[in-house]
Amino acid sequence: MSRLFLRTLRDDPADAEVPSHKLLVRAGYVRRVAPGIYSWLPLGLKVLAKVERIIREEMESIGAQEVRFPALLPREPYEASNRWTEYGPNLFRLKDRKGNDMLLGPTHEEMFALLVKDLYSSYKDLPLSLFQIQTKYRDEARPRAGILRGREFIMKDSYSFDIDDAGLERSYQAHREAYIRIFDRLGFEYVIVKADSGAMGGSASEEFLAVSETGEDTFVRSAGGYAANVEAVTTVVPDAIPLDGLPAAHVEQTPGTPTIETLVAHLNEAFPRDDRPWEGSDTLKNVLVILRHPDGTREPLAIGLPGDREVDAKRLEAFAAPAEVEAFDDKDFAANPALVKGYIGPEALGLESASGIRYLLDPRVVEGSSWVTGANVSGSHVIDLVAGRDFTADGTIEAAEVRVGDPAPDGSGPLELARGIEMGHIFQLGRKYAEVLDLKVLDENGKLVTVTMGSYGVGVSRAVAAVAEYAHDDAGLIWPRELAPFDVHLIVAGKDETVVAGAEQVYADLVGEGFDVLFDDRLGKVSPGVKFKDAELIGVPTIVVVGKGFVDGVVEVKDRATGERQDVPLADLISTLR
Ligand code: ATP
Ligand code: MG
Ligand code: MG
Ligand code: MG
Repeated sequence: MSRLFLRTLRDDPADAEVPSHKLLVRAGYVRRVAPGIYSWLPLGLKVLAKVERIIREEMESIGAQEVRFPALLPREPYEASNRWTEYGPNLFRLKDRKGNDMLLGPTHEEMFALLVKDLYSSYKDLPLSLFQIQTKYRDEARPRAGILRGREFIMKDSYSFDIDDAGLERSYQAHREAYIRIFDRLGFEYVIVKADSGAMGGSASEEFLAVSETGEDTFVRSAGGYAANVEAVTTVVPDAIPLDGLPAAHVEQTPGTPTIETLVAHLNEAFPRDDRPWEGSDTLKNVLVILRHPDGTREPLAIGLPGDREVDAKRLEAFAAPAEVEAFDDKDFAANPALVKGYIGPEALGLESASGIRYLLDPRVVEGSSWVTGANVSGSHVIDLVAGRDFTADGTIEAAEVRVGDPAPDGSGPLELARGIEMGHIFQLGRKYAEVLDLKVLDENGKLVTVTMGSYGVGVSRAVAAVAEYAHDDAGLIWPRELAPFDVHLIVAGKDETVVAGAEQVYADLVGEGFDVLFDDRLGKVSPGVKFKDAELIGVPTIVVVGKGFVDGVVEVKDRATGERQDVPLADLISTLR
């Protein structure tokens, strides 16, 4: 440690809210460069490498082969799949010196499909699974929580290629099982939820969520084992919505016809800058707007608001799900409301109602309606406020209604809400990408058939933060053995020559036995107290202290997780640590 490139910090970084962010920065694992962009320092890199190793081993165990694509990519493949457009502002775009459009890869379905197309041509070549562990770029609207949601982050992505649906099902199941082993080894509590395959298309899709209050995903689960992302839960919305449950402070009934201007003005007034339930958080919050139509029916609308900014329609634009932004103007809408897929733009605020109808907030649409707003502080509390209904964080209302306490759709119950961090996502893509990129092979009969694909992602850098999110206490990090940057944190407590020499001998012995040891050999101005504090903060699972007891042939062994200490005779040290 006298030479380790490390400075631990006593104070939490000002921009950090969640424990993993605070601790990974304070303990010197990562360092911020810009919002959502982090450098990995020696300790962090070691943990990252261990996460990668687990993932690599499990991918190889199902026969997936590692490759690596560039992050800097040409536009054309993403044009073919329409994702150049669909990705919207989330895509980092740039031009080369010749003026060609380039992008930094947010995910690589297109590139893998093209590589296989390039080299393979027969059913005999399949099935095939390829993976990479690589840096991805997404210009996230809300980079948050340190490396939990980065704009540059590391993902393991794999892709399966099969000749038929049965093959895809097998590849999907193999990945699913590998993911179960990966997340079991990473050690956090997780659930596998049915997910909406959304913009990716395709049929089956599941997410692996680390159960954590910090998570941005809300899911429902039952004691009987049912779990689903709220986006995947579909029910019918009743026509009358009781408003009684809304906390008075956050409810404002405004007579008259809402327009964007009145809505924005109202929101700024109802939630003044220093009194916003979501203030101080960089998490998107939903504000609930309930329209009361002339016929007495009530229609809930939700809009997402950035945590720390003034509300204005223009800024809201950035929070529209890019795939859903389509340029409709008022004329189109007036002529044919069914056309409108959703539009949040500088001129108009698009809202989607629970019944799936999307509105431009325009007097013609809601004439005679009055409206009520309520704040959804956590992004999901609206569920508790109105009758069990939830609104997703991207500001649209999904056709999702779940009532806490009701039986789950599979009959098990009762349902409860929980939050999770999306750690992995597996998709049966089907032929969507293969078709547009013309990935075909010859089948047994010499006929060209389109290949069917699966795509499977794990957040590798996110996993480091997710583990830290549960593996810590007030004093610092507590790494599980398989992920810890070192096996043993060795402290020399005292300046006495015998003790120092003894510690050096213990270090040499441990290293000789194959232990990876972080040796706090700092002498002089670093007191034992500081060393102990640093050890707790850094979170190596076993701390060995060579101190006064050394003259009697004993060292102290401390378990970082339990806090349990024991004096161990030197002769028994290795066997104790094993
Ligand atoms: P999220 O819902 O959290 O935005 P996503 O659904 O956009 O994630 P996928 O496209 O499914 O992400 O990517 C696969 C995996 O990559 C995710 O399950 C997640 O673990 C990880 N991941 C996605 N975005 C980020 C990010 N900005 N920072 C770190 N990891 C990420
Ligand atoms: Mg995302
Ligand atoms: Mg997601
Ligand atoms: Mg996903």
